[in-house]
Amino acid sequence: MEKLKILFASSEVVPFAKTGGLADVAGSLPIALAEAGVDARVIMPKYASVKVKEDEAVIGKDTKVYFVRNDEYYDRKELYGDKFGDYHDNLDRFVFFSREILERCKREGFQPDIIHCNDWQAALAPVYLNTNYKYDDFFSNTKTLLTIHNMAYQGLFPKEEYPKIGLDWILFSIDYFEFYDKVNLMKAGLVYSDAISTVSPTYAKEILTKEFGCGLEGVLKTRENVLSGILNGLDYDLWNPATDKKIFKQYSVENIEDKYANKEALQKQLGLKVDRDIPMIGLISRLADQKGLDLIAKIIDDLLNLKIQFVLLGTGDNRYHMLFEKMANIHQKNTSINLKFDATLAQKIYAASDLFLIPSRYEPCGLGQMISFKYGTVPVVRQTGGLKDSVAEFDPRTGNGNGFVFEDYRPDALFSAIKRALSLYKNKASWAGLVKKVMGLDYSWNVSAKEYIKLYNKMLKR
Ligand code: ADP
Repeated sequence: MEKLKILFASSEVVPFAKTGGLADVAGSLPIALAEAGVDARVIMPKYASVKVKEDEAVIGKDTKVYFVRNDEYYDRKELYGDKFGDYHDNLDRFVFFSREILERCKREGFQPDIIHCNDWQAALAPVYLNTNYKYDDFFSNTKTLLTIHNMAYQGLFPKEEYPKIGLDWILFSIDYFEFYDKVNLMKAGLVYSDAISTVSPTYAKEILTKEFGCGLEGVLKTRENVLSGILNGLDYDLWNPATDKKIFKQYSVENIEDKYANKEALQKQLGLKVDRDIPMIGLISRLADQKGLDLIAKIIDDLLNLKIQFVLLGTGDNRYHMLFEKMANIHQKNTSINLKFDATLAQKIYAASDLFLIPSRYEPCGLGQMISFKYGTVPVVRQTGGLKDSVAEFDPRTGNGNGFVFEDYRPDALFSAIKRALSLYKNKASWAGLVKKVMGLDYSWNVSAKEYIKLYNKMLKR
């Protein structure tokens, strides 16, 4: 059988540009697909962070990445906006990107079986394919999959900007682009894609409800027969404490003592008391409402009165910056608050921490828990979306489970999950057992890449 041909369209891709988990997925799933025998290629905008001269590059062994070049639109430091808010020309920028997804295929002579689009930034590609390019023979056998990485970001624009998309006003209707008198790119993408997926089985069910559907649950309901959920995987070539050059000392399940060398070195670097017995609690996150930071704010005084150290790395909404700055001033002794994006520090925190907090209000998949597992760091998470699909409460009697979970979105529920974890931490042997266990779990793309291939084949009925 001929190789499956997939074009993976994403507005961010590791190692070229990243603001969140989408970049991790886009920089690793195509490589895993290629390893499984797929001709997978990637396309993304060429931002200032792309330090490559040419308009293409290779990731993994031989996975091609096409860069869409338009310096006026993309040669900027940030991806979607700056401290003043979203860029005013985001619609122009991602209309251009979506058109180029199709045009570039033609120029490269690459006829994909499936264009795998991700999030609102690429959601127009399926729309164009089924409108302007409907009778274009080049794409007569091409299907589209739209993967939702976060339902809350839909690409909303004022109605007045609709002409920029270049389609007839007839499509500005409730069945296509119109969403409460605004233009909604994700909505049109969901209507026009051949299939829709999201990044965990639980989130696939959640987004059909009012609570998680962000207003598009009705549209999704009409497409439920083509909606599925596949849990993200991790690229263990990038996320592996045994080979990670960014951490202070490499370690593996055979020598977890060396994990504690990382803890001491990070304590020193961050100006915290150097003591490997003090539990270190890490949190690395976009500082957005989704991430449950208001729960942290409510328990923080009680938490920091315990004998722990709290290390935070994050950037985002200003009000959280202010909140955490204030907290850092009050609790200087046992906190390290780092309000920035810093991939190297992130790796050091994953390696050094004992516990990792993800108290999200909702979480489509979440990568922090999977990275934590690999680094022997035990996650404390709220049971939602992909967190529910990957973390289960540890039971010291049976040894079942791999972390600490809470269900109700309440500060006391989070606090009690942390206390259960800290109580186990006191028992060195039990804790070491759990650390070893989570390090051995497999959240690589091994399983999930196969699921995608199954889905692609199902779409092509082959
Ligand atoms: P989301 O995509 O909603 O931001 P995910 O859990 O899917 O959340 O992915 C977040 C990714 O971004 C992880 O790889 C995490 O380590 C990384 N990350 C988040 N904030 C920072 C930061 N301030 N510095 C470095 N890495 C970060």
